[in-house]
Amino acid sequence: MTKAILLGAGLGTRLRPLTNRVTKCLVPIAGRPLLDYWIEEISKAGVTEALLNTHYLAEQVQDYIEQLDGDLLLTEFYEPKLLGSAGTIAANPNFADGADEIIIIYADNLSNVNLTELLAFHRQHTDPFTMLLFHAPNPKACGIAELDSQNRITSFVEKPENPATDFANAGIYVVDSQAYREIAALQAFDLGFDVLPKFVGRMRGWVWDGYHSDVGTYKTYLQAQRDAVELATGKFNQGQPAIFLDRDGTLIESVHYLSKPEQVQLVPGGGEAIKLLREAGFACVLVTNQSPIGQGIITEDDLTAIHKVLSEQLANYGTKLDGFYHCPDVPQVKDRTVVDSYERKPGPGMLFQAAEEMQIDLTSSWLIGDMISDILAGYHAHCKGLILVETGKGLEGKTNSAVNWHTVPDLTAAVKLILN
Ligand SMILES: [Mg+2]
Repeated sequence: MTKAILLGAGLGTRLRPLTNRVTKCLVPIAGRPLLDYWIEEISKAGVTEALLNTHYLAEQVQDYIEQLDGDLLLTEFYEPKLLGSAGTIAANPNFADGADEIIIIYADNLSNVNLTELLAFHRQHTDPFTMLLFHAPNPKACGIAELDSQNRITSFVEKPENPATDFANAGIYVVDSQAYREIAALQAFDLGFDVLPKFVGRMRGWVWDGYHSDVGTYKTYLQAQRDAVELATGKFNQGQPAIFLDRDGTLIESVHYLSKPEQVQLVPGGGEAIKLLREAGFACVLVTNQSPIGQGIITEDDLTAIHKVLSEQLANYGTKLDGFYHCPDVPQVKDRTVVDSYERKPGPGMLFQAAEEMQIDLTSSWLIGDMISDILAGYHAHCKGLILVETGKGLEGKTNSAVNWHTVPDLTAAVKLILN
């Protein structure tokens, strides 16, 4: 029997503001909570019992656990004060009872590691400890191992000045139950610093050549979104190109809190613009912030009725939109450049979801919008081109000088720019 410890209580401070409202192990990756990927993988590897530590926003994790189905028995271990990776084990010394081995996973990484193969390797050798290793692009920032010809780890150094290899600790271990009890008895704080050095000479390394990423910073987080889409579809930049369109002030006339179907009016040239884009091979995808839903001003049904009229107006031009995405979240901050919701623009969530569901290659896609929040959503989603139209609200407030975009008078001009 194999059990698993999922270490998921990290604060995710480098991912703020995203982690102001969602705990790190639940940040969405291509539309799924990060923890989902680990639950699926340990279940595939035959784990039926797991322990997950929590701290910050623990109630979110409790809700997540409650909605899980399947055979996995996942138990929460709440830490009022963070105990450290080794401390969590020290506080649960009996968790190894009844298990042959325990997989220990830092659940804030994204990886496509095959845990079944890792377990098979662990069972083949005689040492009580196996560490998953990956090829680090930046070995100086990682824990680095040296291996002998039997894959035994002969040295392990955290953040070495002169790395001997690029074999980096992936934060995934398999330990025999006896080794687990030994770690617990150390009453240590950190696995990397306090525990691993004690196992040098009696642990093996298993090198994973597949995908492995620390989702620690906003940049790596956004990259992980793309990677996850590519891992899931097996397509690396092979999807269709799309045009992501903001709605109000871009595709239809801007109305303050548009709430009725009869208020929908395509901008001049809007119908022809969509027709031209689709004929050129672009999927046309609407991405619209709909905080009136979150505020209770309109319902989902109202929005469906509004979009039905939009579709009818486009049909008059012999064209249509290929996808509709909306986010009902109510903004928590006034600054339109701050991502405080993953889905709500300037967050990239709607674009990533569309990319996943419609097999869109974001890097050959464009975004057209009338506000800085639109532009930044396209930027965060790695779109190839960003176009601001002057038919809507305008930039409204501070801009981001790191981001480059085109400014054109209207949608017709935007299409001309793209097709040229
Ligand atoms: Mg707009």
